[in-house]
Amino acid sequence: MSLRVGIIGAGPSGMAQLRAFEAARAKGADMPEIVCFEKQSDWGGQWNYSWHTGIDGSGESAHSSMYRHLWSNGPKECLEFSDYTFDEHFGRPISSFPPREVLFDYIAGRVEKSDVRKYIQFNTAVRWVNYDEATEEFTLFSQDVKTGESKTYVFDKLVVSTGHFSTPNIPEFDGINTFPGEVLHAHDFRGAERFGGKRLLMIGSSYSAEDIGMQAHKMGAASITLSYRSGPMGFDWPSTTVERPLVTRFEGTTAHFADGTSGEFDAVIMCTGYLHKYPFLPSDLAVNSPNVLYPGNLYKGVVWQQNTNLFYLGAQDQYYTFNMFDAQAWFARDVMTGKIAMPSAAERAADIQSWLDTQAALADHDAEADFQTDYVRELINATDYPEFDLDAVSTLFKDWMRHKSEDILGYRDKAHRSVITGTMAEIHHTRWINAMDDSLERFLNGPSQNMDTNAMATVDANAILAKGK
Ligand code: FAD
Ligand code: NAP
Repeated sequence: MSLRVGIIGAGPSGMAQLRAFEAARAKGADMPEIVCFEKQSDWGGQWNYSWHTGIDGSGESAHSSMYRHLWSNGPKECLEFSDYTFDEHFGRPISSFPPREVLFDYIAGRVEKSDVRKYIQFNTAVRWVNYDEATEEFTLFSQDVKTGESKTYVFDKLVVSTGHFSTPNIPEFDGINTFPGEVLHAHDFRGAERFGGKRLLMIGSSYSAEDIGMQAHKMGAASITLSYRSGPMGFDWPSTTVERPLVTRFEGTTAHFADGTSGEFDAVIMCTGYLHKYPFLPSDLAVNSPNVLYPGNLYKGVVWQQNTNLFYLGAQDQYYTFNMFDAQAWFARDVMTGKIAMPSAAERAADIQSWLDTQAALADHDAEADFQTDYVRELINATDYPEFDLDAVSTLFKDWMRHKSEDILGYRDKAHRSVITGTMAEIHHTRWINAMDDSLERFLNGPSQNMDTNAMATVDANAILAKGK
């Protein structure tokens, strides 16, 4: 009987797992029996944008936390697949920070070429999984989210690739229940247009706070206050934007901060991160971790320590994304097929501990980028995933972080060189701050000659720019 593999989630990680098996098949390996379960009607995970917030059109929790005008926040050269380059997909150089729709097109293009869609059951949510120690089998219960029909499957190996940036972490603050304005979490933010002229308070000091804050600046918010718990981000913000320590309490529209200052606000956006949540898994199989670069209990960040038939992809915080998911998927594939032998439980535990010790000593963001580079390198060295210059990618991450420090509104206007093809990215035709149409067509083809809306948008953006920085 061939190996039976279940994959939960068809976002970039689940797509990487399908692609990994397909790549081995193309080299002559047997294809296992694969079923991939995806609760949405299409693949792409976070990149499968939906306007739904809270609950989606099928009554499931809305998965994607992305917003309409989201652009990649890291250079595309850091996430490029080494077996499917941007040059191959687009046929010409493009700029380094594509909008969401362009990256969706890229990741979908690779798997369409591999003909793996047939393995995916769309509109199918996994409700529960049991593991039988005696038979070493997983029993999986799924449900069609449109018809309600439930089904049971049995697998030898199970891959969890459901992401961990979908269930919002929502802290309590004194008085927030009587704040008269809008309060939302970043998960439910879809666009900043309606915050034009408004005074926004963002709680949190990481990527969501920074990027949603700058979206709001771009769309003409009157002021943006970023409230931090651990420390300020310290960017050279535009004049609309300030950082304050954590909110201590709300009184009506007033927020009081830990340094004794206060401010009046129209809306609050909690940019307070996400929870690892696996409601379909028993607790002894579920990752329980904060958002860190190396969650405990996963050998090589992938294999569940107490059950080596269970695999997680993309469970870590992410400098690397698509190519790291590939490295993990190739590694998981080779463990599943026995090509990579599992060391003893004690050896695995020691390996996990050494990564955790290194993680605990990381001094700054540069060290974090190097840490994840070393991690990805170890996985790639263990498999036949096409090698690429990981040190060059780490340098790109550091250049990117320096560019952000120099110009938080302008770092996306920089161009980087692909470490795989050597292609230098194009300088984009429109500065990010002026780019109001994020469509694939506009991104690739530039401003249309007769599109008044674009011309208007540019004028508006320039007006906003003149007001701010
Ligand atoms: P996801 O993309 O989250 O996909 C998980 C899939 O699992 C989804 O399709 C979901 O529907 C499905 N699923 C969940 N539960 C079930 C279930 N019970 N049954 C069946 N299916 C289920 N990365 C970058 O490289 N660049 C960026 O610019 C960038 N921007 C980001 C912006 C935001 C706001 C967020 C939240 C993340 C961003 N990321 C970015 C990181 C992003 O997490 C990764 O790029 C990538 O989407 C992770 O892939 P994944 O497959 O692991 O998880
Ligand atoms: P995150 O990186 O996990 O950061 C969570 C933030 O919430 C931290 O600043 C944390 O503060 C703060 N926080 C948590 N609990 C808090 C509390 N009780 N009170 C105050 N602050 C609290 O989450 P994220 O910023 O949402 O980013 C998630 C992912 O989305 C990342 O991968 C990121 O790259 C991606 N993203 C990308 C884009 C883009 O591409 N354009 C935009 C947004 C997000 P501490 O530091 O004190 O823990």
